Amino acid sequence: MKRFLRTFYGKLSAVFLLLLLLMGVIQIYITLNATTSFHSEADQKLHLRLATDVAAEFRPLLKDSIDYEGIHHQIHYMMVINPNIEIYLLDGNGKILAFFAEPQKKVKAQYVNLNPIRDFLNGETEMPIWGEDPRHPGRKKTFSVAPVQIGDDINGYLYIIIGSEQYDTASSAIREGYIVETTVIGLLITLVFTGIIGLILFAFLTRRIRKMSKVVNEFENGKLDKRVPEKSGDELGYLANSFNKMADTIVANMEDLKKTDDLRRELVANVSHDLRSPLATIKGYLETIQIKDGNLSEEERQKYMSIILNITENLEKLAEQLFELSKLDMRDTATYLEPFSIADLVQDVLMKYKPVAETSNINLEVRLPESLPQVYADVGLIERVLSNLMENALRYTPQEGRITIEISQEQDNMRVAVEDTGCGIEEDELPHIFDRFYRVEKSRARATGGSGLGLAIVKKIMEIHNTSISVDSQVNVGTRFSFTLEVWKQPIPTG
Ligand code: ADP
Repeated sequence: MKRFLRTFYGKLSAVFLLLLLLMGVIQIYITLNATTSFHSEADQKLHLRLATDVAAEFRPLLKDSIDYEGIHHQIHYMMVINPNIEIYLLDGNGKILAFFAEPQKKVKAQYVNLNPIRDFLNGETEMPIWGEDPRHPGRKKTFSVAPVQIGDDINGYLYIIIGSEQYDTASSAIREGYIVETTVIGLLITLVFTGIIGLILFAFLTRRIRKMSKVVNEFENGKLDKRVPEKSGDELGYLANSFNKMADTIVANMEDLKKTDDLRRELVANVSHDLRSPLATIKGYLETIQIKDGNLSEEERQKYMSIILNITENLEKLAEQLFELSKLDMRDTATYLEPFSIADLVQDVLMKYKPVAETSNINLEVRLPESLPQVYADVGLIERVLSNLMENALRYTPQEGRITIEISQEQDNMRVAVEDTGCGIEEDELPHIFDRFYRVEKSRARATGGSGLGLAIVKKIMEIHNTSISVDSQVNVGTRFSFTLEVWKQPIPTG
């Protein structure tokens, strides 16, 4: 039982049943009160003129002075005929002058409060009007009253209590018996029906909560695929939906964290590999130079030295790119946005790579519309993007090839494309080329000095500019990388 009461269902049911009982008791109390008021009002209205009618019988006995004998007799006679009433003769101050009581019973009060009597005679106060019961001071009773003249100088009252003590004892027992019985039966029926329906409803309601808490428990214990199967649109359905969404977010975040962790491990593995092999090569050449020192021709020495220098330059570039990527990773948005001429920037980049292109006999071209608005971006980062794309294009385009940079306007954006007539990329490789340390042909890329970080840097810079880079490529035909930048809009002057 204690355990049951500790459950939500137990508490809810106990409170509900207690409330039902309390309401039942209140209902009995209200019904009893209402029937008493109803009877009293009905009695008083029924006996409205009773005192006036009875007063006529007393007038002869009060004509000169009070005929106590005759009055007692008359009162007794009337109370025998109608045991529902008690008759009192009062003077003008409410003092009781005459009454009739059984020998062993007494009338305790000597005065009766005149205020209710005046209210009654005024006829303005609503019924029932409660007067004093001289036999039980403090207890209120309904009454009927009429003024009577006693002798020549006393203006008294004939005061009749309706619902005498005798009547009360008999009627209230019967009446309360009836009322209590019917109300209790009614209450029992209500209790049983409402109780059963309520308990079934609560059981249904709490079953849904129990189901939910079971799922939450399972989720907590590692069953991350568990979700609450709630479809209803009520508050519980809303709660279940929120839990499901929260669970999805937690799972997605965990997967993200796992991916980041995997990426970190992969990065460390890649970096150590990319450091180990060039270092081993450098060491090998240096050892050869050391061992064969005297036997090396000047030509061989120069060759070894230039290889070592080349590898060192590549290492230096790798370190630079890693540093750049980690700096970019710390930024979510481009922070140095400014308007600049993309045409000028493209010319600068082309000038930078012109000498290299000339040595490989590669033709550099630029295609621009006549007038170009400025773009709004981080000029340093966009220069980095163009440089990386140009370096790749030069690296993977054979002699006599062509590299074109094309700029065109697309509504509020400017599209920049770097196109080459190089070796192209296989279709199944395309989704991976922007991954860190990804090289299509591992040996070829390493031989050409590629670290596999150039396009990862480009992708990151695009992300922090809220744009993206796309690629089209055909093997042995060429590759085209393109991206868009926001056109600079002059702010509208205010004021
Ligand atoms: P890398 O420094 O090795 O060039 P990137 O991240 O810049 O690394 O490029 C990833 C891979 O994409 C390269 O290994 C290369 O195979 C391929 N790639 C990039 N640009 C071109 C291009 N213009 N033509 C052909 N292949 C390319």
